Amino acid sequence: MSYATELTEAHKTFLKDALGEGVNFEPEVTQIYSSDASLRTGKVFAVIWPANTEQVRKVMAWADAECVVIHPRGRGTSLSGGCVPTVPGIVLSTLGMDRILDISITDFVAEVEPGVCTATFQSECEKLGVFYPPDPASGKATSIGGNVSTCAGGLKAVKYGVTRDYVLGCDVVLPGGGLLKLGGRTHKDVIGLDMTRFMAGSEGTLGILTRLILKLLPKPESSASVLAGYPSLDAALISMGKVFAAGILPTAVEFMNETVLDILRQTGEIPWPETVNSLLLFQVDGCKETLPLEVARLGRQLDDSLWQTQGVGAAEENKLWAYRRRISAGSYVLGPDRIGGDMAVPRGQLLAAVRRFEEIAHNNGKRLIAFGHAGDGNIHANLHYDASDPDDKRRTEKTHHELDDAVLEFGGSISGEHGGGCLKDVGRQLGEAEHAMMRQIRKVFDPKGILNPNKGY
Ligand SMILES: Cc1cc2nc3c(=O)[nH]c(=O)nc-3n(C[C@H](O)[C@H](O)[C@H](O)COP(=O)(O)OP(=O)(O)OC[C@H]3O[C@@H](n4cnc5c(N)ncnc54)[C@H](O)[C@@H]3O)c2cc1C
Repeated sequence: MSYATELTEAHKTFLKDALGEGVNFEPEVTQIYSSDASLRTGKVFAVIWPANTEQVRKVMAWADAECVVIHPRGRGTSLSGGCVPTVPGIVLSTLGMDRILDISITDFVAEVEPGVCTATFQSECEKLGVFYPPDPASGKATSIGGNVSTCAGGLKAVKYGVTRDYVLGCDVVLPGGGLLKLGGRTHKDVIGLDMTRFMAGSEGTLGILTRLILKLLPKPESSASVLAGYPSLDAALISMGKVFAAGILPTAVEFMNETVLDILRQTGEIPWPETVNSLLLFQVDGCKETLPLEVARLGRQLDDSLWQTQGVGAAEENKLWAYRRRISAGSYVLGPDRIGGDMAVPRGQLLAAVRRFEEIAHNNGKRLIAFGHAGDGNIHANLHYDASDPDDKRRTEKTHHELDDAVLEFGGSISGEHGGGCLKDVGRQLGEAEHAMMRQIRKVFDPKGILNPNKGY
């Protein structure tokens, strides 16, 4: 496909007429939008901030006719380069559409525009006694549209599922300007193909999401967290197995390997004894009367731990979760640059997979930082290095590549959370036939390929 290689004066006039103040061609602005949290960059002709679905339709009809590439963007926290303009084009930011349209405490449904900040939406829900569970760690900085487009997961996925499980419907503007109104406000709907679910995780390749209809739950009355220390990751994960075997479904379970414990030791105060080399961090939630019983039940399953501490309620729990939040910043003691992984393996393979990843890193002269959502088998496998040292860079990239091979050997996925974006070689995971069909489906939505080219799959 030959795409427009620049914006003509006629193109600029069209955009100004269609969007008024909601367009900017200045290099200082377009440069900001040329990257995302992956730190990769590309060329941006203009940034647009449509204010409503009709403006999005107008732009998409025009872009399709003129073969101008459109890169949808929420809040730009993609770690897989999902927003990076791999082909020069226009960034369509959803930040001009950031209204919460409705939170219904009778339907247990909310309707929002795509640019709404995830944490803001969650806190507005909680003020009304309802709960929107998907909670990516980046939630204070992300948009709901971005979360749906990446099917974001989070800490609570082990109990409550991922974003896909909460999308009841959506409005989608197609290249060419057509509008699909998928799903609705019912919690059940089995008429036709489930196109709504199809949009979750589509990484901006099928259309622009302009309205989301989301499922809500009653807000749990209370929560508590337990941090438990073990001599090794092996002991920690055996202990986690006992928790599930006892019929306890925690809201969240995070693990940290020995390298992470070293990092926490080096970068701040820690309350656990020197013998602790691995941690599990649990959260449970429920009603005020039964929560202490649940915490006691959980504690009984963790009797192999060397050390334990508990926090009840947000303020006390925050102190425990602060250790988990310290990992990313602290990891820079191992090098100023990072390649991150967010792979997932079947839960029973978690220990074997982490140990295999560590071995691969060790064989390349690297240390593997492994932590993440143990209850989902989702591993953040990070490697730090010094990009100014060519040998270190080469060994790190080699390790990263070999980790993806190992994930596939474990029957896992090279991305449990962040998506393919423009960085992951998804063809290594997808079968030829299913990959080809995904591309055919993409063509049905976007025959000219103007939407987020070279992304996803
Ligand atoms: C520190 C940090 C922690 C993170 N933790 C997690 C985590 O715990 N779990 C997790 O899943 N992810 C995590 N992420 C990754 C990222 O935050 C998520 O992928 C998030 O869902 C992206 O939201 P966003 O609004 O920033 O979307 P963006 O990054 O702006 O966009 C993401 C993708 O969605 C597309 N898109 C955005 N909006 C629309 C729309 N309205 N219509 C069509 N396409 C659209 C974009 O083209 C892009 O492909 C983390 C990132 C960082 C930096």
